[in-house]
Amino acid sequence: MNEKIYKALNEQIKHELYSSILYLSIASYFENVPLDGMMKWFRNQAREEHEHAMKIYQYINDRNMQVEIPAIDKTPFKFNSILEIFELAQAHEKKVTHWINEIYDLAIQEKDHATHVFLQWFITEQVEEEKNAQDNVDLIRLIGDDKSALLVLDQDFARKAG
Ligand code: MG
Repeated sequence: MNEKIYKALNEQIKHELYSSILYLSIASYFENVPLDGMMKWFRNQAREEHEHAMKIYQYINDRNMQVEIPAIDKTPFKFNSILEIFELAQAHEKKVTHWINEIYDLAIQEKDHATHVFLQWFITEQVEEEKNAQDNVDLIRLIGDDKSALLVLDQDFARKAG
């Protein structure tokens, strides 16, 4: 693969690892509230984001290159409300979609067919991630200040987290 694609993919490993750390920080917040369903859901998200990073790691290695992961920025860890957290997660997933689309454009431009195909899984995955993020924000907005509804919703998260 050429230098531009290589750099962009390494940068995307960084973004996926950042996502993993962000969701782990959020899980820790929920662990302390405590809202165990949301905690489990974000711990799962953190694990999935690490798996995304590993997919790209493996792809770079499969193309006979070594990864060079840039430094990962510090993630926020102080949150003022549950709505703020879910809005933050949603805004972050939109950014991730944007970054994936940019590498996809680059793969087309550079005629890197293998990377083009490789990224299709991520494009499909982002549709799912954005759907979940939107649903979560909508649900938190819907329940407003209703604490009983929040506890019921937390049980839903526990179920979804498995
Ligand atoms: Mg991801």
